[in-house]
Amino acid sequence: MDKQQEFVLRTLEERDIRFVRLWFTDVLGFLKSVAVAPAELEQAFDEGIGFDGSAIEGFARVYESDMIAKPDPGTFQILPWRAEAPGTARMFCDILMPDGSPSFADPRFVLKRMLARASDLGFTFYTHPEIEFFLLKDKPVDGSRPVPADNSGYFDHTPQNVGMDFRRQAITMLESMGISVEFSHHEGAPGQQEIDLRYADALSTADNIMTFRLVMKQVALEQGVQATFMPKPFSEYPGSGMHTHLSLFEGDRNAFYESGSEYQLSKIGRSFIAGLLRHAAEISAVTNQWVNSYKRIWGGSARSAGAGGEAPSYICWGHNNRSALIRVPMYKPGKTGSSRVEMRSIDSGANPYLTYAVLLAAGLRGIEQGYELPPGADDDVWALSDAERRAMGIEPLPQNLGEAIALMERSELVAETLGEHVFDFFLRNKKQEWEEYRSEVTAFELRKNLPVL
Ligand code: GLU
Ligand code: MG
Ligand code: MG
Repeated sequence: MDKQQEFVLRTLEERDIRFVRLWFTDVLGFLKSVAVAPAELEQAFDEGIGFDGSAIEGFARVYESDMIAKPDPGTFQILPWRAEAPGTARMFCDILMPDGSPSFADPRFVLKRMLARASDLGFTFYTHPEIEFFLLKDKPVDGSRPVPADNSGYFDHTPQNVGMDFRRQAITMLESMGISVEFSHHEGAPGQQEIDLRYADALSTADNIMTFRLVMKQVALEQGVQATFMPKPFSEYPGSGMHTHLSLFEGDRNAFYESGSEYQLSKIGRSFIAGLLRHAAEISAVTNQWVNSYKRIWGGSARSAGAGGEAPSYICWGHNNRSALIRVPMYKPGKTGSSRVEMRSIDSGANPYLTYAVLLAAGLRGIEQGYELPPGADDDVWALSDAERRAMGIEPLPQNLGEAIALMERSELVAETLGEHVFDFFLRNKKQEWEEYRSEVTAFELRKNLPVL
């Protein structure tokens, strides 16, 4: 038994933990959990715990439904909302096939495999997510309109603001679980919050995002509200993005940084961005995986009214240009290593493991094939005409899930990154969602047509 495993077993005794939840994530990014008694854990570390994978989205075909969850002791945490003895703890798991090989359906494995490829090239991948979400008054049922939990706006700090108490309690809880928070504030829409996690290696970040979503829902319930990560719950307000700052390190050196070059961006950094740009459309079904995701990035032309928020719709990069898909934030002098790029299309409903895997794949492809970075866009690209954008070589992101699926289906990069099983399952599932959506007569049509036709 290694030191981490020993630490876990010792802590279970010392802290009187009676339940250990083994966590993993399905292909669509939903958290799954199986609870074991502490007495089972030694065996779980050795051999894993068997479970029937056939009921889990994307996990197994019926004939191979036996799966094994093997806890990663490095992710052990006591759940703070179950802190009184006897307590509850959790660990993330790797999912294995009965023969002990990694399950090709495990999103955590998809990311690990991609991180191993980066490591072969000498890189560690760091990510820093800015997570936006809404607090709602009640749990909406039957597709009825949600009601925001407050009426505040960007950076508002008012007494009567649910968000303030909420954020204080939520952040305390995250930090007690070893998840550091860098910033938090009220976002632009009523009820909308943003909490930014400190940067960490991409696997830890993805695990942290999964924990984050559960903690936010938990704290919301305790405060009598509901948290949602739906990308665009309101037509008239901005949606919830999960902008992520990305950087590659070679040892402890930031590989995107080069002193004296434009924006302090190295050749590696430039090719990485070029990779993200060139593959942005085909990875979009992963970074924006829901029908609703495209309501956010195509938030309408009424941007000045705030409905579009600052979500990107066009594939371009810029320096401090919030209309661009990729932003190279201002370099902080004296902070060597702060070179990074902000990918702004990702929404809060994405599976973080698969999302970080495809972003890394796109960026590395740019580096390996030496892609040239096209000129940056300084203008507000939403304000340009289609012809102007075309003249500048700026293409739109897919405009709906159907288009995104069609592009992904032809993508050798995404197929290779997700692996055959996840790629097939994902496409099948998303096509079904798109079909269902297309065949539904919506409130929009009834409102528009019924009174006049
Ligand atoms: N809510 C915006 C989005 O959907 C982002 C606002 C911001 O720049 O933080 O991407
Ligand atoms: Mg924001
Ligand atoms: Mg941002």
